[in-house]
Amino acid sequence: MHGKAGLVTGAAGGIGRACAIRLAAEGAAVVVADLESARDGGEETAAEIRDAGGRAEFFACDVANEQDNVALVAHVVERFGTLDFAHNNAGIGVHKLLADTEADEFDRVIAVNLRGTFLGMKYQIRQMLRGGGGSIVNTSSNAGLRGVRLLSAYTASKHGIVGLTKNGAIEYAEEGIRVNAVCPGAIMTSLMSGISPQRQQEILRPQAMRRPGDPAEVAAAVAWLCSDDASFVTGIAMPVDAGSVAGW
Ligand code: NAD
Repeated sequence: MHGKAGLVTGAAGGIGRACAIRLAAEGAAVVVADLESARDGGEETAAEIRDAGGRAEFFACDVANEQDNVALVAHVVERFGTLDFAHNNAGIGVHKLLADTEADEFDRVIAVNLRGTFLGMKYQIRQMLRGGGGSIVNTSSNAGLRGVRLLSAYTASKHGIVGLTKNGAIEYAEEGIRVNAVCPGAIMTSLMSGISPQRQQEILRPQAMRRPGDPAEVAAAVAWLCSDDASFVTGIAMPVDAGSVAGW
């Protein structure tokens, strides 16, 4: 990734932080994007990268906001001269049965996860067309490949991300832009630790390895998809899930 620059959203912690750190360790300059309310975590991610000799800085943005996505891409180009990769990773969830989910809860999950990914891709692709290509990796989920009890809005948003990934891939392949998704299983982040132990067990059950993943295990896949090593790979939704979608 030497000489390349890009962005990771939702990089104040969890999977996004691990991805930013991994991409920077491979030589990329990284803009660590997250909400203003998560600034402390975002600054921490960027500082960790700089302390290890890498190039990184925090940029506050709400992925559900169109102008924030415009500003984020412009910032990467202004600071590092190019946008070679983008990892659209910010996401939220609501754990409720479908009929108990409020319309505004559904709207919020869709706004961040699906609209946020769409808006990110829209402006990243416009920049990559000017720059001669690039690689986009979206964070979908196991819930982008199958239903997950108590996660209707989330599941709908993550299936939508797989759709956007496929469309982005086929529409811009000839311009040198690759678009892929990772579909993590249960990964030990605040998203997981914030739910009850009983619910954690329920989510872990389908994972053949019977353990939660480490964010670094997702980051390895994201870094590969961002890199030229994946030059013939586009339009995939790659499970990183300990065998979860393989069956149980
Ligand atoms: P996390 O809560 O640690 O990280 C999510 C980050 O996104 C946070 O830093 C949060 O501040 C940020 N964020 C939320 N709303 C945002 C917005 N509107 N704009 C910008 N940033 C925003 O959780 P995580 O587990 O690291 O999740 C990262 C991604 O991985 C999410 O898309 C999540 O759906 C997905 N995922 C997680 C798991 C898991 O088990 N942890 C499994 C599959 C998919």
